[in-house]
Amino acid sequence: MLDLHLDDITEWVRLRKLSSVAVQLPEGLKIRATEIADHLSSKADVSVIILGDPCYGACDLNINYKKVAEGLVHIGHSPMPSLTQDDNILFIERLSHTEIREGMAKIADLLPERIGLLSTVQYVSTFSDAKEVLESFGKKVFIGNGDGRIKYAGQVLGCNCSAATAIADRVDCFLYIGEGEFHPLAAAFGVGKEIMVFDPLTYELRSVNETRDRLLRRRFAMIESAKEAASFLIIVSSKVGQRRDAVADDLIKKITSKGKKAYKVMIEEINPDALLAYRVDAYISTACPRLAMDDSVRYGKPMLTPPEAEAALGMREWDNYVFDSI
Ligand code: SF4
Repeated sequence: MLDLHLDDITEWVRLRKLSSVAVQLPEGLKIRATEIADHLSSKADVSVIILGDPCYGACDLNINYKKVAEGLVHIGHSPMPSLTQDDNILFIERLSHTEIREGMAKIADLLPERIGLLSTVQYVSTFSDAKEVLESFGKKVFIGNGDGRIKYAGQVLGCNCSAATAIADRVDCFLYIGEGEFHPLAAAFGVGKEIMVFDPLTYELRSVNETRDRLLRRRFAMIESAKEAASFLIIVSSKVGQRRDAVADDLIKKITSKGKKAYKVMIEEINPDALLAYRVDAYISTACPRLAMDDSVRYGKPMLTPPEAEAALGMREWDNYVFDSI
């Protein structure tokens, strides 16, 4: 069970002499919201408000918390350094100290010589052990630094693989340590190298190439289906870490230059119901790139990322397909 560091939060609240604190959690941890509230109100003598809106990442950081509380505790994600430097926001990261040495020794001989390590915040603490073991097998191991959205070397987000791009020309493949394919898929699209996924709990090692190619075929079909669209709804997110007005404005220019219509709409929670009312032929999401990449089947009309929209408009060749990153 995730260590919520309740005593650390209590100490932080006391040191800042906060009388009220807002707590923001991802959906999977909301089940523990009342436990946090009980602890803080009794141990730190602070009034607690749980922020109940969905929270999918640090991109959802509630920077307007001061309307309801003096401080904010954001649980489950690492901060995006470029978003905010606010001493009254505390991040409680989801860190795992899983033993990695045995697993690395088992798979080392299956990997090429030059390896780039990637993970989410959960497993970045395994990197130093993983590197040491792989080097003892004669491998060269690299860990890249990401851009302003990335706190830890080697960390990837579902929308950002800058830590991989930074070292892509020095490695033969990337080894992603973690569960699931959501995050390594971003790197699989974003860099031209094989991404191997190692699950530190089951010791399974697999490539994400097949999933990437299947998804690419779906994206190709989606672009084709949007080519005849005469009108587009360009969706801008109001979330602090997803808002891309300049990208939206650039798209409007491109669409209108082709004699087609473009409308910009700002939405916080983007879902099929929120788009039903708009009479357009296709959607372009400038919000979280995974909305179009992973969820587009839920929408009744083509849903594209900005680079895909350029392809649908005839302004980008399919050979030049790029993953939409923030
Ligand atoms: S924009 Fe999407 S992929 Fe990026 S951090 Fe937010 S929820 Fe995750």
